Amino acid sequence: MSKYVIGVDIGGTLTKFGLFTTGGERVDQWKMTTNSEDNGKHLSSHIVKNIKERFVKHSITEDNLTGIGIGVPGFIDESSGVVDVAVNIGWANYPLKAILEKAFNVPVFVNNDANLAAAGEHWNGAGKRSVSTFFITLGTGVGGGLIANGDLVTGANGTAGEIGHTLVVPNGRLCTCGREGCLEEYVASKGLRRSLRNYLRNFEGSSSLHKDNEAIDIYEAAKTGDTLAGQIVNESAYYLAYAVANAVMIINPEKIIIGGGMPAAGNILLQPLVIQFKRFVLKEADKNLSFEFAQLGNDAGIYGASWLALKRLGYFCHQD
Ligand SMILES: [Zn+2]
Repeated sequence: MSKYVIGVDIGGTLTKFGLFTTGGERVDQWKMTTNSEDNGKHLSSHIVKNIKERFVKHSITEDNLTGIGIGVPGFIDESSGVVDVAVNIGWANYPLKAILEKAFNVPVFVNNDANLAAAGEHWNGAGKRSVSTFFITLGTGVGGGLIANGDLVTGANGTAGEIGHTLVVPNGRLCTCGREGCLEEYVASKGLRRSLRNYLRNFEGSSSLHKDNEAIDIYEAAKTGDTLAGQIVNESAYYLAYAVANAVMIINPEKIIIGGGMPAAGNILLQPLVIQFKRFVLKEADKNLSFEFAQLGNDAGIYGASWLALKRLGYFCHQD
């Protein structure tokens, strides 16, 4: 009898599902709209219903299911499977693991979505076959996930790998976390737009940019040689390189994978990032280290969630 795991990736807009064999082969994937009405009250029952309907399509009974991995955009306590807080969904102190285990009668493993995207890339994407991977998501904000010695590192309170909230400027810009000078306020969409508004206040040269431009417009303008855009991108690369060089000293990864919406920026970001990084990093920590762009796109989460279930159920050996 074939055995399966399900990987679920809950996003603010869409919830994605993947059906995998316990050998790690993807059998199917699908998605549904995330219903976060009434503080996410209906979401877990929608997830249960959706999975059970898909079982019918594949003639799978619940006896074939060995476990479920699930990624949530928020702070999670992995051991209890309680979602401490997931702002976009509306969950607070929400016992997701207990609810799904009751519905399916199999072990359920819950983790943060950025951590599981990191695990997905490590397992089947750009991090394949590396021992340690540090995954950075550059989107509206900056997230991160760390795989060391083949396993996910979440830390005592689940905040390990959160590079977006490492401090890069003493007494710097105020961050949403309440502290000053976090990396997130200087890179990706949020930081780039903030830099743009600051620069435009006193800027007297010519530029195609205006205060309402998005990060991707700034990257595009930099590609066409716009001096102001180039300056903003280089400044952002400088701060990112600074934070990454510090992170590398602590975790000594083999691969730094850049994911999220910003890989579209391509070399206009990567080139100054690597140049600045080489200035900051200790040479011994830089040996055998490479920067790469994520490969799985929006599927990283379902791969990572399935990987988590397979890993915790003992289907992988140490390095997988
Ligand atoms: Zn912060």
